[in-house]
Amino acid sequence: MKVSGQTQIFGIMGSPIEHSLSPVMHNAAFEALGIHAVYLPFLVKPEDLGKATMSLRALNVSGVNVTIPHKGGVIEFLDELDPSAKQIGAVNTIVQRNGKLYGHNTDGAGFLLSLRKDGHFDPAGKRAVIIGSGGAAAAAALSLAEAGVRRLVIVNRNKTRAEVLAKRVKKYFERETLPLALDESRALYWLIKESDLLVNATSLGMKATDRLGINPNSLHSKLFVYDLVYRETHLLKTARRKGLKNLDGLGMLVSQGARSFELFTGKRAPFRVMKNAVDQAIKFSK
Ligand code: NAP
Repeated sequence: MKVSGQTQIFGIMGSPIEHSLSPVMHNAAFEALGIHAVYLPFLVKPEDLGKATMSLRALNVSGVNVTIPHKGGVIEFLDELDPSAKQIGAVNTIVQRNGKLYGHNTDGAGFLLSLRKDGHFDPAGKRAVIIGSGGAAAAAALSLAEAGVRRLVIVNRNKTRAEVLAKRVKKYFERETLPLALDESRALYWLIKESDLLVNATSLGMKATDRLGINPNSLHSKLFVYDLVYRETHLLKTARRKGLKNLDGLGMLVSQGARSFELFTGKRAPFRVMKNAVDQAIKFSK
């Protein structure tokens, strides 16, 4: 694709950004549909977030994704939020229309789609444990609540954040919720034992040496383990060794990216093309 004066500009703002697979995924989709657009990585430091977001208007950038650590902080610079971004309290997609910046969140829908489609797991009536209380955990928790999960245990290193997220889930969806600290290991052991789904929504696992500290004996044979981290984490290795059903975060990455693409372009996302682009990028990075 030749860049010209008519090329539409999209991108992703985050810090760090060099590991992001979104440019590969979205550029492949633009090319496949013959859309005259380019998707760029923007390294944005926390202290520059306001200036960077304002400049989307000044530079006529059509839309961006937002990643760590800006999903919450970016909200104050936007004109409007859609209902899921409001509920979750985080934005991962910004679309510019007529000089206004609209904030969306496609992480929850992407997570749920992947869980159902890739994992063949229907959360309705099930009991789930989510580790984490940041933006990704909020997206997963609220989408599970909306999908009719029976009970949600929200576990976090900082228990206050787990309590805040549990209240948010209650406020919007009236589900049974239980906040827990990650180091309340005995309670956590039993709660995982009687659950159907365990989700890691912390950033622990991104480094090979990371350990969540979950007792492996709590991972019972009927448990589905979903790790939002894209690589094979220690938790996933343990689940696979025990023969449990499991998924890493790649399916969610492509599903949330496909939803963002549809918000950016108004066109149906070429899901297969996006998935292949991500698979190829991972293959060649190894
Ligand atoms: P975030 O808002 O920064 O939240 C980070 C979470 O991880 C918090 O709950 C934090 O606990 C916990 N945490 C960090 N370091 C920890 C440690 N050493 N011990 C225990 N807990 C720790 O990040 P996020 O946006 O929610 O993202 C979380 C993860 O999800 C990242 O790995 C991200 O790549 C992944 N993600 C994947 C997708 C996908 O498409 N697959 C989409 C979004 C995010 P405290 O509250 O106690 O600090």
